[in-house]
Amino acid sequence: MARVYNWQLGRDMSYWYPEKRPQRQFAAVFDTNKCIACQTCTLACKTTWTSGKGQEYMLWNNVESKPYGSYPLAYDVRLLEQLDGQRWEGSRYAGRTIFEAAPAGERVLGWRPEQQDYSYPNVGEDDCAGQVDHGALIQVPHLSWFFYLARICNHCTYPACLAACPRGSIYKRQEDGIVLVDQGRCRGYQECVRGCPYKKVFFNPMTGTSEKCIACFPKIEQGVQPQCFVNCIGKIRLAGFLSAADQAKAENPIDYLVHLRKVALPLFPQFGLEPNVYYIPPIHAPLAFNEQLFGPGAGAAMAAYRGAPADRDLAGLLCLFGSTPSLVARWRRRGDLVSGLDEKASEIVRVPLLEPVHVRPAVDPTRQVVRTNCP
Ligand code: SF4
Ligand code: SF4
Ligand code: SF4
Repeated sequence: MARVYNWQLGRDMSYWYPEKRPQRQFAAVFDTNKCIACQTCTLACKTTWTSGKGQEYMLWNNVESKPYGSYPLAYDVRLLEQLDGQRWEGSRYAGRTIFEAAPAGERVLGWRPEQQDYSYPNVGEDDCAGQVDHGALIQVPHLSWFFYLARICNHCTYPACLAACPRGSIYKRQEDGIVLVDQGRCRGYQECVRGCPYKKVFFNPMTGTSEKCIACFPKIEQGVQPQCFVNCIGKIRLAGFLSAADQAKAENPIDYLVHLRKVALPLFPQFGLEPNVYYIPPIHAPLAFNEQLFGPGAGAAMAAYRGAPADRDLAGLLCLFGSTPSLVARWRRRGDLVSGLDEKASEIVRVPLLEPVHVRPAVDPTRQVVRTNCP
């Protein structure tokens, strides 16, 4: 095992290979507050990449309702139980990662789902935490809650799938940090399926190899966001590249949200993979639950997001989500207009910070008309 630095844990940790960061890292921000669980993303990926034989059960993109939803079944709870609690001391992780908790002779603490664990991808959908009492009225904060968590491969900086593969069939591209399975080398041992804590590698019984989200790299290479991003109805997603924390640039939208404003957080950072899909936590869910999913920064992230209506830069950048199919390398706000720019600083999209609101009176005395059925 090598010693590597994991900025999400605030410390060094053990990993099977030495630290080797790519020239730039594909990354994304998902705003959980805007997801409506329409599953358009799931189908956008399915129809593009996994419509073949042996791929029927695979959802490289899935959307689960928390707290009860999970795909495959209980993928998160099973590992959290095995990790025996997670302790943070401030922003430093004091517990063990899945690499540090690996049993003797193994590279990763993992488990392999059974076939039936993939059978109910929408289990727990729209089930809220707690009972809603008969006759209860909506109160704020919500006493009962749920939220939707959209998930793809995290294209981790320290991928457990890559570490676990005994044949070296999984690799992380130097040019963009995207993690891929070499189909020619893979022999279907499924150690990657066992090792990935997010369960985002899938075994194809027809080809006898493992397959996973490829971050739509043919699109990324063309400067276009992936399928599940551009088809997102809720406009919750933004794809781009993340700089190292000490080189963060305010003009880079991903850097701004992750490193500078710290409003977008990794999923289960305590596993130790330095995942590169970042989530704006749901602001109506309990802090303790958000901290278990997104780490100790959840409270500050929730407060920053709640303050967005008075924070024109943050609100402006959030308006850029889903506004263009192109990758947004830079952004800027001028007054009430927010622009997305490409790598050559050419403007590719411009959106207003505030949409105009027109309220038409139900009864128009000038024209003597009633505009609704219920004046
Ligand atoms: S999320 Fe899983 S499959 Fe994706 S890179 Fe990380 S360990 Fe590998
Ligand atoms: S990035 Fe592409 S391959 Fe990955 S889940 Fe989304 S659509 Fe599928
Ligand atoms: S398309 Fe967007 S809004 Fe719809 S479920 Fe997927 S992430 Fe959520």
